[in-house]
Amino acid sequence: MSNYNEKVSIIGLGLMGSALAGVLLREGYRVTVWNRTPEKADGLIKKGALLAPSAALAIGSSPTVIICVADYEASRSLLSSKETAPFLPGKTVIELSTGTPQEARDAQVWAKEHGIDYLDGAIMATPSQMGRPETLILASGPRSVFDKSEAVLKALAGGLAFLGEAVGNASAVDFAILSFWFGGNIGFLHGVRICEAEGFPVRDFAAMTRAIAPFAGESNEKMAERIFNENYDDSEASVRTCAAALKMIARHASEAGISSEFPDYAYRFLERGMDAGFGEEDLAAAIKIMRTSSAATTAG
Ligand code: NAP
Repeated sequence: MSNYNEKVSIIGLGLMGSALAGVLLREGYRVTVWNRTPEKADGLIKKGALLAPSAALAIGSSPTVIICVADYEASRSLLSSKETAPFLPGKTVIELSTGTPQEARDAQVWAKEHGIDYLDGAIMATPSQMGRPETLILASGPRSVFDKSEAVLKALAGGLAFLGEAVGNASAVDFAILSFWFGGNIGFLHGVRICEAEGFPVRDFAAMTRAIAPFAGESNEKMAERIFNENYDDSEASVRTCAAALKMIARHASEAGISSEFPDYAYRFLERGMDAGFGEEDLAAAIKIMRTSSAATTAG
């Protein structure tokens, strides 16, 4: 294999870290692993991974260290112990745990102070999807660090995307996509309740959502254009029309005896747009409601 002898350490062997290690072993890398609960390494050891006795020694074992733990707090606590300090200078650390853009910026500052080349990444896939040609990892940080990390990241995710030198970009886009994703997921679950109530096969409904997915993407691109141009007049579906549909979905929920929580929330959100006087503008104009909601009014 072409990557034979290339050394990579992986810290964190949860569902995702274990999948990352498995892919790199398959690709011929020499993989050293460490996990707080060492038993999770058993299967990987059988496949050829070396188990380091400490996070510090895992860092010491390879020039490139991938860390994939629950969050940046866990990550920092592992990287900044007294034992790890001598091993850090000159290492390339690729952070694949999920965190905020500010945490990525803080991590970059910390890494610089410790002589580490730091790259921030976000995995846009599930463990079983790792290692495929189309799998997406977003990465941001210095171009030079990305360039030297590209081969190992491409082995993990063939669809690897470099989002620029602003180190917070990978987290920012991760959260933006997750926001879109979870919004859709919650709407999907309400759709399942509609199908259950009306006796329509849930699997057939799910298949239809796959078929319309490209249209959702196209619609998002049009909304982005309108938002970028601050022009909501060339509407294909007004705030009022969408609010009316949500009101009907909420009415259906009470007729069918299912929860109306989701359509009620979505309707109330658009109702604020109508109250503010932009009901006849395109749905994208609802961004104005979000822009006027401060963190204080939305928290809690
Ligand atoms: P997981 O299965 O819950 O594993 C969490 C990992 O973090 C374990 O290795 C755990 O060690 C370690 N950990 C947690 N707190 C720690 C601490 N204080 N000190 C040392 N180690 C600690 O989660 P996962 O699915 O692998 O996710 C890992 C990261 O990948 C998360 O940030 C997640 O958001 C991200 N991610 C996951 C997916 C996915 O589909 N799973 C997709 C994209 C991104 P122990 O084994 O000892 O508990």
